[in-house]
Amino acid sequence: MAARILDGSKMAAEIRAEVAAEVRTMAAAGVRPGLAVVLVGHNPASEVYVRGKVKSSEEVGIYSAKHTPPESVTTGELLDLVADLNRREEIDGILVQLPLPAHVDAKRVLLAVDPAKDVDGFHPMNVGFLSTQRPGLVPCTPAGVMEILKRSGIPVAGQEAVVVGRSDIVGKPVAMLLLNGNATVTVCHSKTRDLSGVCRRADILVAAIGRAGMITRDFVKAGATVIDVGMNQVSDRAVFDRLFAGNNKREETFLAKGSVLVGDVHPEVADVAGAITPVPGGVGPLTIAMLMANTVKAAKVRRSAAASYELRASSKQFGLGS
Ligand code: NAP
Repeated sequence: MAARILDGSKMAAEIRAEVAAEVRTMAAAGVRPGLAVVLVGHNPASEVYVRGKVKSSEEVGIYSAKHTPPESVTTGELLDLVADLNRREEIDGILVQLPLPAHVDAKRVLLAVDPAKDVDGFHPMNVGFLSTQRPGLVPCTPAGVMEILKRSGIPVAGQEAVVVGRSDIVGKPVAMLLLNGNATVTVCHSKTRDLSGVCRRADILVAAIGRAGMITRDFVKAGATVIDVGMNQVSDRAVFDRLFAGNNKREETFLAKGSVLVGDVHPEVADVAGAITPVPGGVGPLTIAMLMANTVKAAKVRRSAAASYELRASSKQFGLGS
């Protein structure tokens, strides 16, 4: 039987509507959440992502400010910009779009972001809050994965979850969120032995690898939930045919655009899985929706005096933030 399709676009629209309602309530109390996006240079993919983030902010009523330093910007100049954004009262969230140019010390720049405004959830302090189950800002894509499970009524507690991928931005935080949700979690990577055997144990399988269609039906237990985080542009005809031979809709897109967006999960998995996220239209839309939710959360925490004191006190204690 074909798997249930978990519609990320629909869930993202619901989240945006909820965020917009919260923003209206905050506006009635005289507060408008603000997001600053820093986009260095002219990376075409980054420009597309940032455009989406700014547009989405406007749609839900969040004030957004875009900063576009040139490619030649120095680490020092970016640190000054971040320090200024940390100080600005109308800014609740700071997002530094990656990748930064090779000559910039990206880790230093990210470390300079006030953890209370770190809406990407990449600051070590927020990573620590996540792993010790304290309130903090959670990275957007992993938070989106958990929202999909929650909104689809898929239980996490007590389930066997397998995450393929251990990056700081997806694999590790997804694994931590699943663990915090009381799943029994296995994290796999490029050195894992018998990867397909380990994956077949999963009730919930999360693929965050960056390899088009790598997860085939042999990796999936019948009835499992499969969450495909991968986003790969396929322009090679042979790879396209391996994944989509006979799929007229995809063929049309491939011919028109010269490439198609493909996840890490092979389409044949839909024949064995119980539920599956599509690509496009699965995890991707949730990422921006969760950025909006994080910005509102950051605004609430930072602007509520007591909670703000706790975060600020801890950030000063560790010599981080402003
Ligand atoms: P990444 O930093 O390159 O990490 C990839 C992970 O996959 C690594 O842990 C790597 O193992 C593992 N891996 C690679 N080849 C493998 C193999 N043959 N067998 C087992 N594990 C393997 O990538 P990422 O940033 O986490 O992103 C992963 C995917 O998610 C990409 O397609 C990216 O575009 C997509 N993504 C989507 C969104 C969204 O909004 N939907 C957001 C972020 C990322 P090692 O650690 O051993 O090298």
